[in-house]
Amino acid sequence: MKQIVLASGNKGKLNEFAQMLKDFQVEVLPQSQFDVADVAETGTTFVENAIIKARHAAQITGLPAIADDSGLEVDVLDGAPGIYSARYSGEGATDVKNYQKLLQALAGVEQRSARFQCVLVYMRHAKDPTPVICQASWEGQIALTATGDNGHGYDPIFIPEHEQRSAAEMSGEEKNAVSHRGKALALLVNALSDKGLLV
Ligand code: IMP
Repeated sequence: MKQIVLASGNKGKLNEFAQMLKDFQVEVLPQSQFDVADVAETGTTFVENAIIKARHAAQITGLPAIADDSGLEVDVLDGAPGIYSARYSGEGATDVKNYQKLLQALAGVEQRSARFQCVLVYMRHAKDPTPVICQASWEGQIALTATGDNGHGYDPIFIPEHEQRSAAEMSGEEKNAVSHRGKALALLVNALSDKGLLV
């Protein structure tokens, strides 16, 4: 069974990866199992940050690694909070503080188009010069107020295209079928399978 380390400690992400890879002879292990500490995300793009995380996990574990980096881009804010989505409200940021700050930034603004972005990177080893990179996005609008209790992050204020509900009012399964992460994950599994990297 091939082992791949996931450069994240997030249980939800680990389950999503394990689910998508269940038909392959692959075991996805969280980096916490190898005592890999979080690495500083010093890049200025989702791609750079995902590569930094995957390279770090591969270096310490000696295993191939997958990392993701994601965030919310708001057009009228020139793409902010973008790669800074998790830390948008500064020191001690929480999901609620982050989306409240965003609602405030958009108070009275009519143009509310936005999208979630997800970049996934697979590195065969820490020095891999050609990481496999997949990217997908999820278009929508920023709501006027927060609704819904599911999901995480900015889900309560994100109304996906073709939806009246917020992402936090969708079930996990509904979201995974159309979300930036769900789509990027499907692309990555196909790319890895095509390249013979899942055997
Ligand atoms: P990371 O890629 O796990 O570092 O996530 C970056 C940040 O983007 C998260 O902390 C959330 O604030 C935001 N984000 C990414 N994906 C989603 C999503 O599916 N729903 C809501 N917020 C998200």
